[in-house]
Amino acid sequence: MGQMNRRELSRQLYERAVRVTPGGVNSPVRAFGAVNGEPFFTASGTGSRLRDVDGVEYIDYVLSWGPLILGHAHPHVVEAVQRAVRKGTHYGTPTPEEVELAERVVALVPSLEMVRFVNSGTEATMSAVRLARAVTGRDLILKFEGCYHGHGDSFLAKAGSGLATLGLPSSPGVPKEITRLTLTVPYNDRGAVEEALSRHGDRLAALIVEPVVGNAGLIPPETGFLQLLRDETQRVGALLIFDEVMTGFRVALGGAQERYGIRPDLTVLGKVIGGGFPVGAYGGPRQIMARVAPQGDVYQAGTLSGNPLAMAAGLAQLEVLERENPYVRLESRATRLVEGIVAAARRHGVPATGAVVGSMWGVYFCAGPVRNFEDALAVDRELFARYYRECLDGGVFFAPSPFEAGFISTAHGDADIDETLAVVERSLAKVIDQG
Ligand SMILES: *Cc1c(COP(=O)(O)O)cnc(C)c1O
Repeated sequence: MGQMNRRELSRQLYERAVRVTPGGVNSPVRAFGAVNGEPFFTASGTGSRLRDVDGVEYIDYVLSWGPLILGHAHPHVVEAVQRAVRKGTHYGTPTPEEVELAERVVALVPSLEMVRFVNSGTEATMSAVRLARAVTGRDLILKFEGCYHGHGDSFLAKAGSGLATLGLPSSPGVPKEITRLTLTVPYNDRGAVEEALSRHGDRLAALIVEPVVGNAGLIPPETGFLQLLRDETQRVGALLIFDEVMTGFRVALGGAQERYGIRPDLTVLGKVIGGGFPVGAYGGPRQIMARVAPQGDVYQAGTLSGNPLAMAAGLAQLEVLERENPYVRLESRATRLVEGIVAAARRHGVPATGAVVGSMWGVYFCAGPVRNFEDALAVDRELFARYYRECLDGGVFFAPSPFEAGFISTAHGDADIDETLAVVERSLAKVIDQG
């Protein structure tokens, strides 16, 4: 009852929203369906905190689902956008900001010589696959179960029956003729990769992977796994695409490819690169990127691509990251958080396991180890949902699903972690005591 009143304005907005927008949201996970909850509506954000329309504050570990590595409303980003917007919002001609951001991205991400900006991660992965198909003259792609590459038809595929068979649509509206071109195998499974490539390698255009899986909780690659992907794709003449939409500028300045020392053929970026604005990008060596129109023959375009406000925000965010190089600090804070949550869960008799890679983190309520999506499915979803709602009521905003990575920003201080761990402890106590 208290909570109902406490979130009254959010509740009213949600009632209006569901009448005019499917599920009341513009992206499904925002509806809190996986935790049997209702969304709160945000009024503003500062640093590590969000404030909802009812004035309730939350420590935010969602951070716009990844982009806000400096926290909300970082002054350097806000000022850059304010300066940019006074000059106009978009011109439809090239601008200096696009060149500057492209130069910076190419300098930071080891495998990139050229980059093309688009408006979302989805657009970028779709474009990268088109380019890979053009370059190789082949049609098949291979992805991993539990990896998310945006909502393009090719990626909404689930494994068919049996190992290394061609995919089935995972959503109505996706033609099976398209998902038949997508192979799906388990992450961290060397044998499955080798078998799929032995069987289909000569028809494979690209293997696409989240080098650190952040869309099934958080699953780091096992030692040697990314190298195996590099070797195997080279062997069969397919391109290796790193989808670094989440890991880019998040697990290291140069992304997972810098952290693990693997050079993919194509890299997909998003999230952090836009500083909270809609930006995606794909890039690679000059020789491959030269195939993209108008330099080459592979078509791809965008009315608002390279938008100057978005470029300014991205540049400002990358400038701060380059200056501060905060990844060691972020990782140690995230580690303290994850170790604290796992320890609290075990104290209450809940099996738990966790992982941290840079500023990405994850906790599973299961014994683990979690090496792939199937392992992740062992989590106690019911327990997670109840724990989740208690944490939210306590003022901590975790991702509303047991299968999403958490994030941390440079704005999260030790006091935030302490406060969070206290809320976690109280929430677990309440949930376990209630049975
Ligand atoms: C978020 C995400 C995408 C999709 O990006 P959008 O901007 O939501 O379209 C693609 N790949 C990965 C790894 C992501 O995390």
